[in-house]
Amino acid sequence: MNEIIGKCRELYNNSDFARESFALCEALSYLAEWQGVEFDPIILPALTPVQRERVLEALEKAVNGYPLQYIVGKARFYKSDFTVREGVLIPRRDSETLVEEAVKRIPQNSHFLDLCTGSGCLGISVLLERPDTTATLVDISDTALEAAEENARALGVLDRCRLLKFDLLSRPISELPSHSALIMNPPYLTSLEMTQIPKNVAYEPSLALDGGEDGLMFYRLFEGHTGLMLFEIGSSQADGLKRIYPNSETVYDLCRNPRVVVIF
Ligand code: GLN
Repeated sequence: MNEIIGKCRELYNNSDFARESFALCEALSYLAEWQGVEFDPIILPALTPVQRERVLEALEKAVNGYPLQYIVGKARFYKSDFTVREGVLIPRRDSETLVEEAVKRIPQNSHFLDLCTGSGCLGISVLLERPDTTATLVDISDTALEAAEENARALGVLDRCRLLKFDLLSRPISELPSHSALIMNPPYLTSLEMTQIPKNVAYEPSLALDGGEDGLMFYRLFEGHTGLMLFEIGSSQADGLKRIYPNSETVYDLCRNPRVVVIF
């Protein structure tokens, strides 16, 4: 084990936050890639003194709560890497369930919408798996739309998607482009949860997290809307969604939490 790994371990082990929030191995593999060196869990080979400083400084920020993905400017999600920066929600593994369901269920040769697209991670992952489809990636945030456009270009699907700035809370849903299906991972934290967010999440845009008093504000907008809809939900929101959409199916994630609601 080389000396830098020992230092990283010490930083990590001394932080309760870090031990509860991420694996050291994952953090080191992000940092190694960021510095352009190969990652091995036992050694970090061939780091120059400058790189070594950078890695230690970055890890120190991360163990104190600043999201590592913002430091390195990317997040791994599903089968790709997505550019992220402050102002853009970091893709969550939880959302991979929605990708899997959408890939299975979106009709052949259709156009779908990805609402509250953020980095574009959901819509772009679906486009990559389903070359027969096209999509409109929708968000209210310019910062998010810029990141989504960069990601679509870098991952080779820009010719199959449009980017659209649209405020779901102030414009009628009927003004959205026509589509055969829509997917959405909206802000869904309740007002109470917004006061209790972990310190790393506090660096992320509240615009992407705050779902109003009961967290269900965005889901209600689609009552009466027809066509296939797939929504990511918070793990305690399945009953709330069932009340709004009685004809729906709940899909569970790998941790057996309700995670996606499919409305036909
Ligand atoms: N799962 C996210 C979190 O707990 C919330 C994302 C969202 O509101 N869509 O930080």
